[in-house]
Amino acid sequence: VFIAFEGGEGAGKTTQARLAAIWLRDHGYDVVATQEPGATKIGMRLRAMLLDRETTGLSSRAESLLYAADRADHVANVIRPAMERGSIVVSDRYVDSSLAYQGYGREQPVEDIARVNDWATGGLIPDLTVLLEVPPRTGLGRLSAPADRIESEPDEFHERVRAGFHALAEAEPERYLVLDASRPQGELSREIQYRIREILPD
Ligand code: C5P
Ligand code: MG
Repeated sequence: VFIAFEGGEGAGKTTQARLAAIWLRDHGYDVVATQEPGATKIGMRLRAMLLDRETTGLSSRAESLLYAADRADHVANVIRPAMERGSIVVSDRYVDSSLAYQGYGREQPVEDIARVNDWATGGLIPDLTVLLEVPPRTGLGRLSAPADRIESEPDEFHERVRAGFHALAEAEPERYLVLDASRPQGELSREIQYRIREILPD
């Protein structure tokens, strides 16, 4: 079972992914909690390059390929091995982040980003994607560690990312749980738990 958490800056993905992992472990499941970018050794190097994109003038295509490279390594070295062991994988971000940020956000053809990522992941798609929706201004206002973030992008960039995530979820409603991330944390985690229960093996 593979569960991904998606959404814009400050949506609470990291928090909700952690709460879901704790809840699953409390119910006796073996869980691998992971995140993108930067879950593997090479991924940490790629993450550093990606977050430094403004000083290096990283081009949009190269950025997309580096995210895809990070993801390819993540799938090969973390996600697939965990799934093969029968663990439940909970990931903070996955392919949809690239479709939303590098596709919709940087205005590169979303189908191209999808194709590259399909190859990078060997076609691995989450069983459930939890989309935490938050207005960009609210989300950016919540961030405590701006050094790690793309806070220098204009509002329109974050608005395109938000709309992109929304369009992805609308196109494939069975696979998504879309939540208003401004709701109380406890309410959100309970709704996520209900939905996860439906996809768990007995
Ligand atoms: O989720 P996290 O805060 O670790 O992401 C680090 C940064 O990378 C964020 O600023 C996020 O917007 C950016 N990012 C991106 N494209 C992705 C994934 C993350 O621009 N595909
Ligand atoms: Mg986070």
